[in-house]
Amino acid sequence: MNKSIFLLLGFIYFSLAGYAVNVDYTLGMSHPNSHYFEVDMEVSDLKEKFITIKMPVWAPGSYLVREFAKSVNQVKAVDAIGNNLEIKKVNKNSWRIETKGVKKVKISYEVYAFELSVRTSFLDDSHGYVNGTSMFMYLDGEKDIAGQLTIKPHQSFSKISTALKSKGGNVYAYDDYDQLVDCPIEIGNQKEFHFDAAGVHHTVAMYGEGNYDIPTLKTDMAKIVEAETIIMGENPNKEYLFIIHNITVPSGGLEHKNSTTLQVNRWTYEGDAYLGFISLVAHEYFHLWNVKRMRPKTLGPFDYDCENYTDLLWVMEGFTSYYDELALRRAGFYTQEEYLAKLFGTINYVENQPGNSVQPVAHASFDAWIKAYRSNENSVNTTISYYSKGQILAAMLDLYIIHKFKAEKTLDDFLQMLYADFYKKSDVGYTEEEFQASLESFLDEDMDWFFDKYVYGTQVVNYKKFFKGVGLDITDKTKGASPTLGIKTKTEDGKLIIRTVYAGSAAEKYGLSVNDEIIAFEGYRVDQDDFSDYVRTKLSGDKFELLIARDNILMSYEIIMGEQQRLKYVYSKNFDATTEKQFNHWLRVDVQ
Ligand SMILES: [Zn+2]
Repeated sequence: MNKSIFLLLGFIYFSLAGYAVNVDYTLGMSHPNSHYFEVDMEVSDLKEKFITIKMPVWAPGSYLVREFAKSVNQVKAVDAIGNNLEIKKVNKNSWRIETKGVKKVKISYEVYAFELSVRTSFLDDSHGYVNGTSMFMYLDGEKDIAGQLTIKPHQSFSKISTALKSKGGNVYAYDDYDQLVDCPIEIGNQKEFHFDAAGVHHTVAMYGEGNYDIPTLKTDMAKIVEAETIIMGENPNKEYLFIIHNITVPSGGLEHKNSTTLQVNRWTYEGDAYLGFISLVAHEYFHLWNVKRMRPKTLGPFDYDCENYTDLLWVMEGFTSYYDELALRRAGFYTQEEYLAKLFGTINYVENQPGNSVQPVAHASFDAWIKAYRSNENSVNTTISYYSKGQILAAMLDLYIIHKFKAEKTLDDFLQMLYADFYKKSDVGYTEEEFQASLESFLDEDMDWFFDKYVYGTQVVNYKKFFKGVGLDITDKTKGASPTLGIKTKTEDGKLIIRTVYAGSAAEKYGLSVNDEIIAFEGYRVDQDDFSDYVRTKLSGDKFELLIARDNILMSYEIIMGEQQRLKYVYSKNFDATTEKQFNHWLRVDVQ
């Protein structure tokens, strides 16, 4: 670039910068026990007669409209000298402020934060946690501007952990609104430790006690980072933050570009549960590439106002699930047999889910907002998990690629190509059509057969064909039909209650419903154990009587025992020199 162009560009930049509106936030928490955060939003260099501020309705990575505006109170706006400005709510998550031509508006509001999950915000006297979309409003039409966030921790909190860039003190810079809300913040007295891996400096912020051992975690988390960086060819971050909540609830995680929040049971760091934790680390970390950088076009930049639809969550979550397990193998946490046991566990789970023959995985992706995240008692009959089915399809594609290219290429190479084309060359994401076209160009063949049958259709995967390339014979060990009633039960307040009725089962045919209380089996009062024992004595075609209560009315049903096949696929090794080489390449160890 020559000097005069440089000066001209500099002038243009200066001129634009001089007129751009500016948004800075301050986050306070003066009374942690009230569970309210206080947010100030200062908008300056304004030109418009009115502005609209908006609260997101969802948190990226978690596909449910959560209506974060429901926790927002006391929204006020004043000008630079403290005069109130007129503010009016115009829809569920938007407020319109009449600026009367002033240059600066200070908006303040409070957010009730008492849901400790990875996708919401929380505050009590032990810590504060902020997931940005549930905390910070944005200026409508101005999500692209940079600004700063000042955090005022409560006096009892000594530390702030966030991947936002520090400007010194408790002031943090953000490049745009997407980045601000993509960096969760932990404020409290958390323990921090660090490790370096794959050229990236990692910080782990631990809230809550647990049976963890820091040296072990440093070693094991570093192995996962190394294994996944080898899979993707490079690691785009310089620094990365893990926020870990050690509490009592079941585990979960949420991905971000250069951080993640994991919420786990505090006693998870031993035995099988520990492998579950490492697998969660591997899952969320892999997302820094898959979904946070290479992604469907609709998943970034985001529309925070509504559902963001894509057919591709089976790739975002399914491929990530495939690689979280494979990374554990590549980092030596599993033997080949342990890895295969996990994979076949998933295959047999999916193939026995009635919804697998009803809902194509592309539809499961698209409808995540109203189905996966809003499951009900009938979901088992109508839906399939895009995590599990997507994981299987990723495995099948990997096997297909390994066989086709004789172990010279794997699914890793395809992902590296996607990463280069749709993130590094231009950070735009891809459409459903572009994803398929990329796979076809990588394989140099038409892949309609795969998408029609398995992605947009519900055909049973041809496991025999896919596993043959790595020398595994697949046997269908499905036993003949076995007697079954077709329900799942639970005990609630001492009552035995039906919680699931399988489609096409005897239970459905003869009139049993979810929420029915089972009282007696052939005249004998039963609890959960008695009931299971009695049912087990019946063969297909046997008649028996059940006494149930529905809405407090006693009813007797005569039922004829049904039958059902439980599908079971098993593998056995049948190697020749080529397939053995391909198998060992597939399930190799990369990181010792
Ligand atoms: Zn995920």
